[in-house]
Amino acid sequence: MNGPLDKAYDVVVVGAGNAGLSAALTAREHGADVLVLERGSAEERGGNSRFTAGAMRFAYEGVEEIRSIIPDLSDEEAERTDFGSYPEDTFFDDMARVTQYRAHPDLTDLLVRNSYDAMRWLHAQGVRFLPAYKRQAFEIDGRFKFWGGIAVESAGGGPGLVDTLFEALEKAGGEMAYRTRAVELVYEGGRVRGVRVVSGGEVREVAAGAVVLAAGGFQANTAWRTRYLGAGYDLARVRGTWCNTGDGIRMALDLGAMPYGHWSGAHAVPWDLNAPETGDLRVGDGFSKLSYPLGLMVNARGERFVDEGADFRNYTYAKYGHAVARQPDQFAWQVFDDKVTQYLRDEYHIMQATRVRSDTLEDLAAKMEGVDPAGFLAMVEAYNAAVQDDIPFDPNVKDGRCTAGLPVPKTHWATKIDTPPYAAYAVTCGITFTFGGLRIDEKAAVLTFDLTPIAGLYAAGELIGGLYYHNYPGGSGLTSGTVFGRIAGASAASV
Ligand SMILES: Cc1cc2nc3c(=O)[nH]c(=O)nc-3n(C[C@H](O)[C@H](O)[C@H](O)COP(=O)(O)OP(=O)(O)OC[C@H]3O[C@@H](n4cnc5c(N)ncnc54)[C@H](O)[C@@H]3O)c2cc1C
Repeated sequence: MNGPLDKAYDVVVVGAGNAGLSAALTAREHGADVLVLERGSAEERGGNSRFTAGAMRFAYEGVEEIRSIIPDLSDEEAERTDFGSYPEDTFFDDMARVTQYRAHPDLTDLLVRNSYDAMRWLHAQGVRFLPAYKRQAFEIDGRFKFWGGIAVESAGGGPGLVDTLFEALEKAGGEMAYRTRAVELVYEGGRVRGVRVVSGGEVREVAAGAVVLAAGGFQANTAWRTRYLGAGYDLARVRGTWCNTGDGIRMALDLGAMPYGHWSGAHAVPWDLNAPETGDLRVGDGFSKLSYPLGLMVNARGERFVDEGADFRNYTYAKYGHAVARQPDQFAWQVFDDKVTQYLRDEYHIMQATRVRSDTLEDLAAKMEGVDPAGFLAMVEAYNAAVQDDIPFDPNVKDGRCTAGLPVPKTHWATKIDTPPYAAYAVTCGITFTFGGLRIDEKAAVLTFDLTPIAGLYAAGELIGGLYYHNYPGGSGLTSGTVFGRIAGASAASV
């Protein structure tokens, strides 16, 4: 019986995450026969994209654009919500600022200018969006105000997003091959003509007019993590899929593609200390611990080591995982008092959280395993004395409520740790995805060192280099996958 691997296709996409699915659907829109190869099983389909909360960053001018992708937004919701705006220029500037002005301007421009269109397109595929209340806007005096450049998330989070795209692809007549690992590109007569895969223990060859690589970064490859990110990163937890081991990048490098971007960099967050080595789909993003702007993060000496309130969480969380990795034994505790409990993200309330609680700071200190209690108590005393209490607290804005005179300042949202019960959460470094990858042009064609395209080869998603350096603005990974996936799919279909 013939299966999907027995045919030749116009376009073969490697990887069924958000980027690959966006590429495959777009190639179908252009009339191409499409096959998507997926290393994981049908149950775990969707790669890292499945693990996400579905939060997406895009440029918009006001509530009308939000309404265009959330048509069921009620007037009552619109009235009690300040969505603000997120102009293209601000998105572009945020990309430049957080990457220390290293993000490639042309790639960034493509990402930003196509971001709203990408949301409209996803909506047209059937993806439902919702305002990201609570995660991206706190309710103060009955009103929500969005901050940090993210206002919406997909209904059902990452699973909701990818399952809708799989359904759309099926409806559009695209084909899928699960548990099929691409291992090598077929290159003949000066162009890519297919993919060699391992499926059911056999090596097979699938012929293609063009190939789109969308197989993610190399974060789940322990050896590559250590080699490129550095010593100690072999011990980091991987937040998402076990499948993204750099295959897409390696296959292209084998053909002379140019490595590009921040190869020693990665997106890494504070992540539950006892989370498994790679992601667990039953918990998904729940191991993240990202409410630290409202509390303190301390190391084994009981010392603070970052400005928890330097900026909105969306602009610090992707680098603070590295800050935790640099602490003794790669762990930290996040400490909160009861004044901020109401604002903690849902992930703090899950059963799997590594949490201790107490009514006294002394007892809490004794329960925080690995932490020097005396150092911790002295730090809290000094911190409490440094909080500028006269500045009003407001988690919806950068409130300027800071500390004075501490070696490690807290710039916003500084409140005394003085109201029991207290709670502390143990975290380590969780790697989301690696920043280094392939160089692409404006058509998403993969380039060689002399900047010529490898004929028939395109790329999108985590495995493109040049967008992220040092840091990452939250919610831009999914947007990047859809923007560049659509470009890659259209280019591949036109070969
Ligand atoms: C816990 C978590 C939460 C996140 N939250 C958000 C968020 O809210 N918003 C946001 O924008 N971003 C978020 N991200 C980042 C986001 O997941 C990525 O930026 C984005 O999903 C990458 O999409 P992709 O299609 O490139 O990769 P993926 O979605 O990982 O897809 C790659 C696919 O390729 C497959 N594959 C790998 N190797 C092979 C091979 N050799 N052959 C065949 N298939 C292969 C994998 O199995 C996988 O399905 C989060 C990530 C994690 C882990």
